[in-house]
Amino acid sequence: MLIFRQLFDPTSSTYTYLLGDSKSGEAVLIDPVFEQVRRDAALVTELGLRLAWTLETHVHADHVTGAWMLKRQLDSKIALSSDGGAVGADRYLVHGDRIRFGERQLEVRATPGHTAGCLTYVLDDESRAFTGDCLLIRGTGRTDFQQGDAHAMYRSIRSQILTLPASCLLYPAHDYRGLLVTSVEEERRFNPRLGGEISENDFTGYMKNLRLPHPKKLDVAVPANLKCGRPDAEQAAGADPAWAPLTFTFAGIWEIQPHALEEHLREVQIVDVREPDEFEGRLGHIPGATLIPLGQLAERASEIGRDRPVVAVCLANLAGGMLRWRTEGHATVGGGE
Ligand code: FE
Repeated sequence: MLIFRQLFDPTSSTYTYLLGDSKSGEAVLIDPVFEQVRRDAALVTELGLRLAWTLETHVHADHVTGAWMLKRQLDSKIALSSDGGAVGADRYLVHGDRIRFGERQLEVRATPGHTAGCLTYVLDDESRAFTGDCLLIRGTGRTDFQQGDAHAMYRSIRSQILTLPASCLLYPAHDYRGLLVTSVEEERRFNPRLGGEISENDFTGYMKNLRLPHPKKLDVAVPANLKCGRPDAEQAAGADPAWAPLTFTFAGIWEIQPHALEEHLREVQIVDVREPDEFEGRLGHIPGATLIPLGQLAERASEIGRDRPVVAVCLANLAGGMLRWRTEGHATVGGGE
C-alpha cells in the first residue's frame, strides 16, 4: 500500500510530500523545508518508515531545503537534478531516471522553465505527479530569474505534464490560496496561462509582463540550497532541546513561537536584551522578564541562573519579538495603546 502525506510550511507556503511503501517501510520526501525537519522526522518515525531519499524538484529561492539536516538525522540520501548546479548530493538525476522506495518508484521527468534544473516526479502508476514550481494550480512558476525560460516551460508542461492521464493528480510545490491538489484534466481545461488553445507565444508574452517582486529569502535560500541546505553554523544544530517545541532556524538559532512560550512561561527565564527605554517603552515587556541589555550581557551573565532554559527577547529567539507577542495579545507589562 502507498502511504501518502501532504505537508505544509506556512512561512513559505511550500508543500512537502511524503511517499512510503507500507510493505518495505521505505519512504521518500519531496521538497522538505529546513525549519520543518523536526516535524517531518517525527512523522516518518511515527509511521514506522525509513527515509531512503529526499528529492528536490529544483533549487528553491523561497526556503532552505531540509535535505542535509534530514540526512544527518535519519541517514537519508539526497537526490536532485544534475542541471541545478548544487553540490553535496548523493545522486544527480536526469530525465528518465527512476527512484525506488520499496516496491514503488518515481519516474524523473526534466521540466525546465522555472529553473534550468526543474524536475517533475511521476508515480509508477501515473496516478500522481509532483510538479514543483513548473505547473502550479491554475498557474505556473515564474520564469524571470534562476535561468528561467518561458518557452522551455511551455514545452515542459505541454509535453511532460499535460500528456499524463486526465485523472492523474498534480501536486505543486506551492499554493498561496489554500488549494492543495489539481488534476491533468482540470489544468488542461482551466489553467488560464496555458490550458485550452493558448499558444507558446501567448504564454511567453504573458510571462514577460508578470513583473513579480523577488522572493524575500532569495539571497539566503539559493546559496544554501546549492549546498543541499548544509548550514554554516553546523555545530549548533546538534542537541535537540526537549523543553518546548522549538524550531532550529537556518541562521543557527533555536526559536520559540509566542504561544509556546506563553505555555512554558513558568519553566523558563526570560532575558530581555533590549535597551531600557525599549523595555519600558511602547511595546512593554513580558511579565517576569529580566532586563539585561545586549551590551551588558557578557559581564552580567552570572545573573542568569543555569537551572532553567533561557529565552532571549529581541534577538531572533522569540519569533517575531515583542511586536508579535503584543499583537497576538499575550500578557504584557507596560507599553501604550
Ligand atoms: Fe521555485
